Amino acid sequence: MSLLSVSNISATYGASQALFGVDLQIAEGEVVALMGRNGMGKTTTVKCICGMLPFKGSITFSGHDLGRLPSHKAARLGLGLVPEGRRCFAGLTVYENLIAAARPGYWTHERVVELFPRLGERRNQISASLSGGEQQMLAIGRALMTNPKLLILDEATEGLAPIIKQEIWAAIARLKTEAGLSILMIDKSLKELRAICDRATIIERGRTVWRGEMAALTNDVTEKYVGV
Ligand code: ATP
Repeated sequence: MSLLSVSNISATYGASQALFGVDLQIAEGEVVALMGRNGMGKTTTVKCICGMLPFKGSITFSGHDLGRLPSHKAARLGLGLVPEGRRCFAGLTVYENLIAAARPGYWTHERVVELFPRLGERRNQISASLSGGEQQMLAIGRALMTNPKLLILDEATEGLAPIIKQEIWAAIARLKTEAGLSILMIDKSLKELRAICDRATIIERGRTVWRGEMAALTNDVTEKYVGV
């Protein structure tokens, strides 16, 4: 059974339609890539899943119909979003940011700091003064502290130095192999997505145009829809 099942959703921003029929499934323990060129509707799909944008069609998560649930309720069902542009509470310290997000479960402050040692080193630093990479680690750490059933990473490595990107990819790999976390990922690095994701869904102009095993994603398909 799917942990997340998005069926034929459409969504609009005012008068302009952004999604025309997106389908996406994630089973428990799977890591799935949501791919497509810029502006094709990836972030909009995530907004619908997380209750930030109304949609038509159906989204079920962990047995619940997300149809009309506001985002705080969706979060309580176990959706952990790391949004594009990583938003933390700028005035709080790293430790305070993590603790403010905490809900009971496997992920504790200790486990998050073990995953991202920099967050331990910077424990008492105000989060606004962190580097971009550290802020991204904090954003992931905060999402983990909510003990989500599904972690959603929207461009988690965007704009970071290569060495920091590698640290984040290594952490994501550990989330998969050691914690068995279900993850939906949007990222520009096809190479890393290929290495880590079980399956992929590609959207083009607001529609799902390809779904399948990552191993079945040929270069022809990525050239056509992802532009690499
Ligand atoms: P990117 O990687 O560039 O973020 P994306 O695939 O996530 O791309 P979306 O951000 O979902 O794309 O955008 C899908 C479409 O919806 C685009 O045409 C975009 O211009 C439009 N759009 C996104 N956000 C808004 C908004 N707040 N108001 C109006 N139109 C929007």
